[in-house]
Amino acid sequence: MSPTVVIGGGLGGLLAGAELARRGGEVVVLESCGQPGGVARSIVDNGWLFDPAAGSVILPHPALSPIVEAAGIAVEPATPAARRRFVYDRGSLSELSESPATVFSPLLSWRGKARAVAEPFIRRTGDAASDESLSAFLARRFGPEAGRFVATLMAHGVFAGDPAELSARAGFPAMVELEDAAGSILRGAVRRLRARPKGAPRPRTHVTRGGMSEVADSLAEYLGPGFRPGREVSAIEQRGDGWVVHAGEELEATNVIVTCSAAAAARFVPRELAGILSRSKTAPVAVVGLGGPAPDLPVPDGFGVLAGPAAAIRALGFLFESQYAPGRAPRRHRLAKAIYGGAADRAISELDDGDLVELAVAELGRVIGVTVRPSWVRVVRPGSGIPQYDVGHLRWLSELDTELGRWRGLLLGGWCYRGIGLSGLAADAVRLADTVEGRRLDRKP
Ligand SMILES: Cc1cc2nc3c(=O)[nH]c(=O)nc-3n(C[C@H](O)[C@H](O)[C@H](O)COP(=O)(O)OP(=O)(O)OC[C@H]3O[C@@H](n4cnc5c(N)ncnc54)[C@H](O)[C@@H]3O)c2cc1C
Repeated sequence: MSPTVVIGGGLGGLLAGAELARRGGEVVVLESCGQPGGVARSIVDNGWLFDPAAGSVILPHPALSPIVEAAGIAVEPATPAARRRFVYDRGSLSELSESPATVFSPLLSWRGKARAVAEPFIRRTGDAASDESLSAFLARRFGPEAGRFVATLMAHGVFAGDPAELSARAGFPAMVELEDAAGSILRGAVRRLRARPKGAPRPRTHVTRGGMSEVADSLAEYLGPGFRPGREVSAIEQRGDGWVVHAGEELEATNVIVTCSAAAAARFVPRELAGILSRSKTAPVAVVGLGGPAPDLPVPDGFGVLAGPAAAIRALGFLFESQYAPGRAPRRHRLAKAIYGGAADRAISELDDGDLVELAVAELGRVIGVTVRPSWVRVVRPGSGIPQYDVGHLRWLSELDTELGRWRGLLLGGWCYRGIGLSGLAADAVRLADTVEGRRLDRKP
């Protein structure tokens, strides 16, 4: 039987490949670049280690942890500073407490707080399966003030998205399922906490010493000769009961999992599928790395800061990478990552790198309340932008599934569809591997 071919060696393709390999499947991952990792490849430069995309993961996770273990990825808990998270809103920086009772304290009016804590008593209205925007969903649960506030932080922090456009159910399914299961997010969260086996470790932020490149390299190493860099797929064609993949050479495959961006995939998948893929939504982002001696870049000990709805800055947030992960900056230096653009600020693409750095320096200084003088800067603009799971995304996925039903053995993975971060990509890798295994059983005489 011919192998499964995965197209794209970003974290999505590598996780899908590793999950298949972990189950004993034969898999080949084709990556057009010379290295694995895609948008998450770390930049290593003179003592600086900068992750322009993913920089940390939450572990344990039911789908991700088994892959991390099988591939021997050397993850470690982030420093205790990772627990400190900040919000910048209305001109001031506030630390978010882990206690739900105080989480909004300095940031909302008394009326807003009172409505938010009444969430467990708010009866569900409307159709349970409806595709609501994140802000509509959270306003319905927590009231307009707290709902808008939390929706903005979640949209900025995960998708660089617009909370009025993002779909709550597509983008944050675990949260929506709490309401589905318990009629309330808070009641559902308490139930879920109580159901956790005694002594089970709490999910926490983890990092690797070598950044996301170490994750990608370990996954590629785990795949051995199955990971093939420098192979750009130009065409795929259905032949018999399987597929032929053209990537300089011809490769036969029973299943093909396409994990490059929807726009890249549209260039070589069947025309009907390409038409649907061309409607994928993305938003441009620009990521700015700012590093410097600690006195010139005194970012606080913490994970980072998100901009609230009344922040009046253009940044969506800043991550304090050197404070929660080891080895990100030379000794006595600090490294921060600023994130710009997103669905509500598409004009960011028009700003040149110099102006962007100037803006990031000014805004980081404003947020932490001191003048910032970086000695190391880097601007990265992920070419494909960040996928947006807007209202309508689930309908788009079901259209894709219907079309894929006509192309046996052709599957789609990667962050454009069912998982924006590593946990989501790993959960999707499990779904993809289940489908491939199901097909293998199908074909047994
Ligand atoms: C600013 C930012 C911060 C983030 N922070 C986090 C975080 O903290 N935690 C987290 O879990 N996630 C985070 N993410 C998300 C995470 O980085 C992505 O989910 C992940 O890297 C996407 O991987 P992918 O494989 O789906 O896509 P990509 O990385 O885009 O990989 C697709 C690959 O396909 C290849 N390719 C394209 N065309 C072809 C072809 N024709 N033939 C062969 N190969 C091809 C490309 O070269 C590329 O390597 C962040 C993302 C961004 C942008």
